[in-house]
Amino acid sequence: MKYMSTRDNWQESESREVIRLGMVPEGGLFVPSKFPAISLEELKTGLSYKDCAYKIMNKYLTDYDDYELKDIITRSYGSNFTSPDIAPLYKYDDITGFLELWHGPTAAFKDMALQCMPRLLIHALHPFKESVKVMILVATSGDTGKAALEGFKNMGGTRIITFYPEEGVSIIQKQQMVTTNGMNTRAVGVKGNFDDCQTAVKKSFQDKNLRAKAKQKGYIFSSANSINWGRLVPQIAYYFWAYLQMANSRIIRIGDQVNICVPTGNFGNILASYYAYKMGLPVRRFICASNKNNILTDFINTGDYNVKRTFHTTVSPSMDILISSNLERLIFDLLEQDGKRVCDYYDRLKQEQSFTMDPRPINVMQKLFYGGYAGEEDTFNMIADVFNKKGYMLDTHTAVGFYVLKNYREITKDMTPALLTATANPYKFPAAVYYALTKEKVLDDFKALKLLTQKTGIPVPRSLLDIETRDVTNRDVINIEDIRTYIEQNL
Ligand SMILES: *Cc1c(COP(=O)(O)O)cnc(C)c1O
Repeated sequence: MKYMSTRDNWQESESREVIRLGMVPEGGLFVPSKFPAISLEELKTGLSYKDCAYKIMNKYLTDYDDYELKDIITRSYGSNFTSPDIAPLYKYDDITGFLELWHGPTAAFKDMALQCMPRLLIHALHPFKESVKVMILVATSGDTGKAALEGFKNMGGTRIITFYPEEGVSIIQKQQMVTTNGMNTRAVGVKGNFDDCQTAVKKSFQDKNLRAKAKQKGYIFSSANSINWGRLVPQIAYYFWAYLQMANSRIIRIGDQVNICVPTGNFGNILASYYAYKMGLPVRRFICASNKNNILTDFINTGDYNVKRTFHTTVSPSMDILISSNLERLIFDLLEQDGKRVCDYYDRLKQEQSFTMDPRPINVMQKLFYGGYAGEEDTFNMIADVFNKKGYMLDTHTAVGFYVLKNYREITKDMTPALLTATANPYKFPAAVYYALTKEKVLDDFKALKLLTQKTGIPVPRSLLDIETRDVTNRDVINIEDIRTYIEQNL
């Protein structure tokens, strides 16, 4: 399996190299040059999560040895997850399943990929093992940061710095990051929003001078952001897994089409579902759910991608994003792998902060994708509604997804059985969820967490149990302009 750049500016490469590099050094993202097919017969319903993951990932990571990949997967999806199913399906009703992707060590779906990706990366470095260390640079809107810190914690030959918006993450998210107790981990608050962080980190990657300095000290840079192929490939697997679970729960029969609804930020999770579809998963429609930062809703409805808009801080902070990096991969595919055209769009985006896609790919996109968004009140109401009906607690992000799914069904009358990805455990955002259920404002997340447990009786995941009292190991807060210097000083 070969990988190419979305901007036609890099030679075809194997998966190890692609994972090692993170993104194309000249700009652009790595994508598979073609999609391997898998038939549903190859995936029996009795399969374990690990077996399912192996069958999918093996088709992409062809330059990893079989035993090596099996070992990586076994270590990635074990007792570090609190459910033996790794990602269990909750049957909401006869046509709706929620795929709970939050049973990993940080209680958000990023663990699904980030328990695995560091191992893929270490193995990708094998040929260079003696001499090269990796410096992982992460820009995070909250959940990636902690998941990456946990994934790389104390892993030999690596260091990791995560940059998070000081004002843009929840108190629990911040506490999770700053209490990470790894020898090789740093979590740094940045005065700016997520897009500022992401842009600055991307710039550092492309900074030749900085890379030369790193090299002198024996480091190469890599990324744990969802632009890294090593993040995406484990995510494709759980869409097949979910499909099998939907069949087990009798929401569908094998072969039936499903709709897939994903609360979306950087477009990684939903892109993985699209890649599953490209491999043969029977999907009718992808429902892309946004919060008030609804740039993707507008893009899907009009083909205009326009960043000139107000950035909103919402109760679903992991989706507070205007520049959805992985969208570039979808666009590349919609343009039938025309990297030059992708370059045109992204040059325009850089210069004018907007671009408009051509009519033909817009048509293709609109047949497959539906875009919608939920406001803050919609999100709160959805959480309350589901709790009152089923005693099931949604987190703020999943609630955005469910609201948009319900809207989609009302507007289109398309009642195809749907899968909704539940992307975080609600106790990660306790103040917002508690407010949704009681209309009481509790400013202190830790207090809200306790109140929420008392109110619902639903157990707190073990990773959040003693969160308040853990030792803070990182206190750095810096300006956006100082990101480069900070990286340099930490080499
Ligand atoms: C990261 C995240 C999202 C957005 O996922 P993308 O892959 O960036 O689209 C949604 N919900 C939660 C809880 C997240 O942590």
